[in-house]
Amino acid sequence: MSVLESRIKALIAAQGPISIAQFMTQALHDPQGGYYATRDPFGSGGDFTTAPEISQMFGEMLGLWCLQAWHDQDRPKNPRLIELGPGRGTLMNDVLRTMRSLPEFFERLEVVLVEASPVLRGIQEEKLKNSGVPVRWSTHFDATLSDRPLFLLANEFFDALPIRQFVKTERGWCERMVTLKDDRLVFALAPVPVPSALIPLDRRDAPDGAVFETAPAASALAGEIAAIVARRGGGALITDYGYDAPGPGETLQAVASHSFADVLDDPGESDLSAHVDFLALAAAARHSGAQVFGPRKQGDFLVDVGIAGRAEKLMAANPGAAQTLVVGVERLIAPEQMGILFKALAVMPGGAPKPPGF
Ligand code: SAH
Repeated sequence: MSVLESRIKALIAAQGPISIAQFMTQALHDPQGGYYATRDPFGSGGDFTTAPEISQMFGEMLGLWCLQAWHDQDRPKNPRLIELGPGRGTLMNDVLRTMRSLPEFFERLEVVLVEASPVLRGIQEEKLKNSGVPVRWSTHFDATLSDRPLFLLANEFFDALPIRQFVKTERGWCERMVTLKDDRLVFALAPVPVPSALIPLDRRDAPDGAVFETAPAASALAGEIAAIVARRGGGALITDYGYDAPGPGETLQAVASHSFADVLDDPGESDLSAHVDFLALAAAARHSGAQVFGPRKQGDFLVDVGIAGRAEKLMAANPGAAQTLVVGVERLIAPEQMGILFKALAVMPGGAPKPPGF
C-alpha cells in the first residue's frame, strides 16, 4: 500500500467518508504521493497523450487564434497570455513560436503558467527558458491576474478539476462518497439526501440509480476567467474532452499506461478525470457577463481555423515529414479519434466579433 493510500485511509478513519472531489484532489495533488505532483505522465511511455504532444500544429492553430482575437479587438495593449495546466510546456512553446511572427503583440506580452505540479513546472521552465518573453508561474488562477487583457488557453485542464456525484435514490439525491470497508477504499452513498436545489430542474425526475455529476470548481473558475475577459478584453479558449448536451451521467475515470484503471485502486498512480460539462462552463461564463461561442467539435474547429493549409505548408517545407503530419492531423480531427469527443469553447468580451473556428 502506498503512503498516500494509507494517508487517505487514516483521514477517512478519523473524519468519516470523504467526497469524490476531496479524493480526486488528494490523489492528483498530494505533495508527496499525488499523481501530478510526482511525475511527467505524458507520451507513449507514460499514461496518456494530449493534442499538443501529437502535433505542433495544434499549438500553432491556438496561437493564431489568439492573434486573430487580439487583432479583432483593436490590438489591446499589454496582453497577458495564460495557460492553465501546461503539462510539458509543448503547447506554449508552439504558441509562442507562432506569436513571434507578430512583434507588436509578442514584444509586450507577459506569459503566466498556472501549474500545481513542481515536477511539471520544472519541465516547463526548461522548455521555455529561451522563449524571449517574460514567463512566470502561479500555482492557481486568482484575482492578481485581472489587470490586463487576458488571452487564456486550457487544454485538458478542466477535466482534472474535482467533481461531485449525486445518485438518485428513493430517499432523494444522495452524494456518492469514498469510505472504508474491511480496510479497502469503496464508494458509498451519504445517508442523508442533498437539498433538491443542488440538482438541475431537468434532472430531478430521473429514475432511481441515475447519476448527476457536477464540477463546482470548474464552473467557478470559468466564471472568474469570463469576468476578466468581459472587463479587460481578450479571449479564452477551452479545449477538452466532454459533452455538449445535458445528462451523460457518471464519467469519472482513471487512466494508467493508456488503459482504464479502477478509480479507487492505488490512488496517486493513475490519472483521474471526468468529462467536461461544456454547457455548465458556458453558463458560468455568460453569468459573468462574457459572450460565449461553441462548444464546437474539435475536428470542425481545427478545420475551420485552417489546420489543413498549415499541414500543406509544413509538408512543402519538409517532404520527409509528410507521413507524420498526415497522421497528426488525422488523430486531432478524425471523428473516431479526437475530432468529436473533444470540444472547443470560446469566451469573449460582449460585442467582440465571432472568433475563428466558431
Ligand atoms: N495542457 C497539457 C497538460 C494536460 S494534463 C497538455 O495538453 O498536454 C493537466 C495539467 O494540468 C497538468 O499540467 C497538471 O499538473 C495541471 N493541473 C491539474 N490540476 C491542476 C490544478 N488544480 N491547478 C493547477 N494545475 C493543475
